[in-house]
Amino acid sequence: MGSGTLAPQASTVPDPFFNMKLDSVKLSQDLIRIASYSGVNLEVLDSLGTHLKNLGFDCDFLEFDGSNSYQVNNLHAVLNPKNCARALYFAGHTDVVREGERSAWTHDPFAAEIFDGKLFGRGAADMKCAIACFVSAVAEFLEKNPNPDFGIGFLITNDEEADGVNGTKKVLEWMQKSGKKISHCLVGEPTNPQRFGEMIKVGRRGSIGFKLKITGKQGHVAYPENALNPITILLNLLKILKDHKLDEGTSFFDPSNLEITAITSQNLGANVIPNAAEAEFNVRFNDTHSSKSIIELVEYVCKKTVGLGAKYELAYKTSGESFLSDPKFLAPLVVASVEKVTGKKPVLSTSGGTSDARFIKDYAEVVEIGLVNKTAHRIDEFSEILEIEQLQKTYLEILRSF
Ligand SMILES: [Zn+2]
Repeated sequence: MGSGTLAPQASTVPDPFFNMKLDSVKLSQDLIRIASYSGVNLEVLDSLGTHLKNLGFDCDFLEFDGSNSYQVNNLHAVLNPKNCARALYFAGHTDVVREGERSAWTHDPFAAEIFDGKLFGRGAADMKCAIACFVSAVAEFLEKNPNPDFGIGFLITNDEEADGVNGTKKVLEWMQKSGKKISHCLVGEPTNPQRFGEMIKVGRRGSIGFKLKITGKQGHVAYPENALNPITILLNLLKILKDHKLDEGTSFFDPSNLEITAITSQNLGANVIPNAAEAEFNVRFNDTHSSKSIIELVEYVCKKTVGLGAKYELAYKTSGESFLSDPKFLAPLVVASVEKVTGKKPVLSTSGGTSDARFIKDYAEVVEIGLVNKTAHRIDEFSEILEIEQLQKTYLEILRSF
């Protein structure tokens, strides 16, 4: 069903019908050619805003700063002809991670070259093509449905890859204050491991980073009875934490996991027991826990393990709580749309790192669906032209059946 793609092998293939529409591949190329690193970049949002204004959207270019982070450009755009209660938003980010050594790229990271059926460039997979696909899908949808009975919105930030402080979170707060309704939201992050249609995301694990410092008593290795080795205490403690099974996983989540990322101590010589030792570890947790319950557990193990004479200092930072978007309405609709376009039934997953969906879930039912993530953040990042078209058709299908 519906697999008759337009599939140009190169941007030069003439197709008069194709050129009449807001072509998702061409739009992707325009966005990739603007090197929009995290923070300030009005040019990339302007280029997007121009198309959205042409489609009748009200655009707000929002600049946020403060909160111990840098200034960020964001774009909010909405089309709500009947002031409806339901509004389907598309959320995404225009910022890209650095390209690294340019000479290592086979295709210039900002040339947006098409070669062998692939569109190359920084941000192709993560996630400029997905933004282009949704703009193009909306344009095609509005041609036949100029007055939809639901609102359509865009929440685009230029700061997802870095701090994420003055981006999506602040736009959502601004929307709430200004009375903008959002009931459902698609996030266009790349969700598929290998091919488009394999996977959508309906939640994410939470994440907390810990720093633990144990202070013992310095001394001579030959007289350990006069010292208190903080490394021994730290290793015991880490073993207890690592061996403790947090949970078995759930039908939507992998088991929670603690991973040690660093162990350090000041080494004053081979015959010196150091005064202190430090470790860093990260916990990715599912919805059977909260950051609070994980922190309490780590505190408890520290208190029980660090005995008299030694002390511990524990610091932590939560980058997101775990969440599961109850797959009621939007998830089945997205699954059916992917199936209609690709013939494949995508898996509902909660795997991977955090995304801005962690902020949106407090305001709307959210589902992540985008392209393939295997080349994201890599040298020679690309997206398949065929898959860009499949994503555009899938977004169109979602709009039609919303
Ligand atoms: Zn991304």
